[in-house]
Amino acid sequence: MPDCLFCRIVAGEVPADRVAETDGALAFRDINPQAPTHVLVIPKAHFDNAAHLSHSDAELLAEVFRLAAQVAAEEGVADAGYRLVTNTGAAAGQTVGHLHVHVIGGRQLSWPP
Ligand code: AMP
Ligand code: ZN
Repeated sequence: MPDCLFCRIVAGEVPADRVAETDGALAFRDINPQAPTHVLVIPKAHFDNAAHLSHSDAELLAEVFRLAAQVAAEEGVADAGYRLVTNTGAAAGQTVGHLHVHVIGGRQLSWPP
């Protein structure tokens, strides 16, 4: 997907503050962090959202969530607690159409959003 921002980050065409990666997934810091830890974890291949990925490659979906857990541990927020968010569609506020899981932590988070 040449016009997809996160595909361009995967390709190295757009700079990002990368924190971890696996063969199939990449983690990088959100450019507009909403908490002391705010990292995005994405599949390197393009999927519009988690529903699409879950239907086509459940193992890759698991790899994304494993990397998110690894990032939370490495950021030191795993014990205190953190939030994984994947906005899906306009009403949820999805602004980039490449599946991404927000890893948010390092402060007390309110609920509901
Ligand atoms: P969402 O609104 O759930 O689609 O989240 C998109 C996220 O991508 C937002 O939190 C943005 O701050 C973040 N973002 C947009 N452009 C970049 C970029 N070039 N590098 C890192 N994060 C970005
Ligand atoms: Zn993409």
